[in-house]
Order: sequence, then C-alpha cells, then structure tokens
Amino acid sequence: MLHEKLSSIYDNVLRRNPGEIEFHQAVREVLDSIGPVLGKHPEYAESKIIERICEPERQIIFRVPWTDDKGEVHINRGFRVEFNSALGPYKGGLRFHPSVYLGIVKFLGFEQIFKNSLTGLPIGGGKGGSDFDPKGRSDGEVMRFCQSFMTELYRHIGEYTDVPAGDTGVGGREIGYLFGQYKRITNRYESGVITGKGLAYGGAQVRTEATGYGCAFFVQEMLKARGTSFDGKRVVVSGSGNVAIYTIEKVEQLGGVVVACSDSSGYVLDEKGIDLALLKQIKQVERARLDVYAQRRPHATFVPGRTVWEVPGQVAMPSATQNEITGQDAATMVANGLIAVGEGANMPTTPEGIKVFQEAGIAYGPGKAANAGGVATSALEMQQNASRDSWTFEFSEQRLQEIMRDIHDRCLATADEYGLPGNYVAGANIDGFRRVADAMLALGLI
Ligand code: GLU
Repeated sequence: MLHEKLSSIYDNVLRRNPGEIEFHQAVREVLDSIGPVLGKHPEYAESKIIERICEPERQIIFRVPWTDDKGEVHINRGFRVEFNSALGPYKGGLRFHPSVYLGIVKFLGFEQIFKNSLTGLPIGGGKGGSDFDPKGRSDGEVMRFCQSFMTELYRHIGEYTDVPAGDTGVGGREIGYLFGQYKRITNRYESGVITGKGLAYGGAQVRTEATGYGCAFFVQEMLKARGTSFDGKRVVVSGSGNVAIYTIEKVEQLGGVVVACSDSSGYVLDEKGIDLALLKQIKQVERARLDVYAQRRPHATFVPGRTVWEVPGQVAMPSATQNEITGQDAATMVANGLIAVGEGANMPTTPEGIKVFQEAGIAYGPGKAANAGGVATSALEMQQNASRDSWTFEFSEQRLQEIMRDIHDRCLATADEYGLPGNYVAGANIDGFRRVADAMLALGLI
C-alpha cells in the first residue's frame, strides 16, 4: 500500500506518461520504499521533491537517418532523457535495441538517478538510445548509424553537461564510432564526454569488466553478511553479453561454479562450469548464437526457447534485460534452493518476482545497487580523463571493490535504520533518494 501522498503522485505519473509501463514500474518500486522517509523529512514533500524527481529535466527525441550497405535509406528514432542533474552531469548509457521507446529510456534514466547517487560519486542521471537493431549489421552500417546518431546528439552532451556510455547493443565498437564523430564535429578532443572508451584513446582499465565484476563483488558481500561465500556455489547467469561474461569471470575467480547462461535463442547448461574462453570467442569475436557453444563442448547441452531460470542454482545473477524473471520463475528458483540474487541487468525481476524473493527471505540485491559498478567505474574514467591520468588495472579494480562494499554496507545500514533489516530494495531506494533530495533542496527550486 502506498502512502496517501505518494499514491496521488503515482496517479499523476500514470496520467502524464501514458503507455510507458516500464517507467511506471520503476517509479512505483521507488515510491513503495520511500513512504517512511517522508514521515521523517516533511521538507521533501513541502518542496515537491518527488514530483520533481519523476519529471525529467529534459527529453530529446530525434530522427536518425542512415544508409545500409545496399544504399537503402533507413530511419530510426533516437532518444536522450536528461533526468536529473542535482548531483552532477547527466550520466547513463545508450541502448540500441528494437524494443527501445520513450518508456524504456525513461525507466532506465529514472533508475540511473538513484544508482548513480548510491555510488557516492558526482554524477546525475540520464539515459538514451535508439530502436536501431545492430544484430546482423556490418561494421560499416553500425558506423554510419552511430555517426548519424551523434550528428544530432553532440549538441546536447559535454563533459560538464551529459556523459553517455554503453548499454545493451552499445559496446566498445559503437563507443569508438560515437566518440570519433563527436570529436570530428566539435573539433575538440573532449575525452570526458563519453565513457567506455577503448584503452587506446582515453578509456579506463576495468570499465569493460566493471558491471559484471561489481555485481559479483556485491553478491560476495551479501553472502558474507549471511556467513557464507561463493566457494563451491552453483550459480546461474542469464544473458551472454558484456555484463554476463564478466560476471561469470569474477564468480569463477571467487570460487563459484557457473553452470548456465543464455541468449535470446535459449540457454546452455554446462555442469563442469562455463568455459569462459569459449564463450568469449563465440560472443565477442564471432558474434554467434549460443548453440555453437554446445557444438564445441560435447558434454554441454543447448536448450532452445526456454528460460534459464528452470536450472537449479543457489545464486542467480540475471544479466540480460528487464522483466526476465516472472513470479512463476522466482517460485521455481526458490523451490530449487536459491539463496541469493544479484541483478546485473536493470530491473530484471518483475514486481511479482521480487515479492516471492522477499517473502522467501532470499538475499535479493536489486540492480540499482548490485550493478552500480559499471557506472561507478565510468565516473572513475571521467576522473582519470579530467586529470589526464590513467590508473592500473589492480588499483582500478580495488577502487571498484571498495565502492561495491560501501554500497552494500550503506544499503544494509539504511534498511536497519528504517526497521527493515536485510531489505536491500528499501536500503538502496532510500539511501539513493535521500542524497538526491538533499542536493535538490540545497539548489533551490530548479
Ligand atoms: N548502462 C550502464 C548502467 O546501466 C552504465 C552507464 C554508464 O556507465 O554511464 O548503469
């Protein structure tokens, strides 16, 4: 049940943003947590902080025309939602996927505000992307698309304004093309305008690995808080993109056994533990489907068209996309002996699924806390760019681990403070919200 004031704010969000169901879901989850904060801090309600947070500061929608290799013209839609800049320049990735529309970009941007706040680093929240589908496109087509996208986006971004990065469908190749076009148009080598850059041109060590590594560190802390560790645990990961791959890498280093991962065609089950070198070869080099994994590793099986959540595991690390764990999936996972969930993806669990996890007493680390390592390391990349410095891999990874430990501890401490011990959702939402709210109050009515 929502606090009365929050319920009318939520009704307004529904009315003002029709059809944007993922955005509604992301707002609802935060509002569900912050009722008790309003009791302690009447000044937030008086200044209409929540109403202001739910309304993006600026939303940009633009045409992206480009030509394919046959010379045919295509038109996509580009987005950048600059949601909140109370803590720093808007910061958040770009997603290229056919499912992208304003509601997806707004849900991601909204989550990003609190996630970025939780990192403790000076970054506001934003997100962008396009309904462009990079699957099956040549490098030349992807380059022309990225150049056209940046030809509009460049006027809205800058190292002190708005700093994009990658998300689904936007990795090192796309970031290179985007930065190249920004540099060409502006005639400025402004490294801090985008993060996730290659190491050859201003990128930071550990940024590629950061979301997955960070998520594994977060789960390690959750397990530690319950007196256990990854050692010998059976782990199920969804996805096989950047987040999944580096989650698997770190979990294996920490002693866990990842027995399954997936892509949009199905999942692969490998009881001996996923062979990471083979997975990287198939996904990063060949950009092929997961069935190829089972062809090359005979004891592994590829299961087409089914959810990976039917595979029993003690730890689940969803690293694919939003709403990939339903209430039914969650019930199956709990029945199969699940003890912890760390979300590498953004909002991968439906509200029904979250309820099942929480009622079963699972250690449930929501994305905005568990996957904050990616954007945190982006902020470290900005810091290195600003000081024209570059840190070693070891130092960068140590910083990432400290940041994840700190987020974990603050989530737990905040949950305790509000009488909800072990509730990482409440801890993350309340702690993330408070910092943004205090900055907004201090900055006046803007
Ligand atoms: N897209 C990532 C996220 O969901 C990273 C954003 C960034 O590095 O700016 O947090």
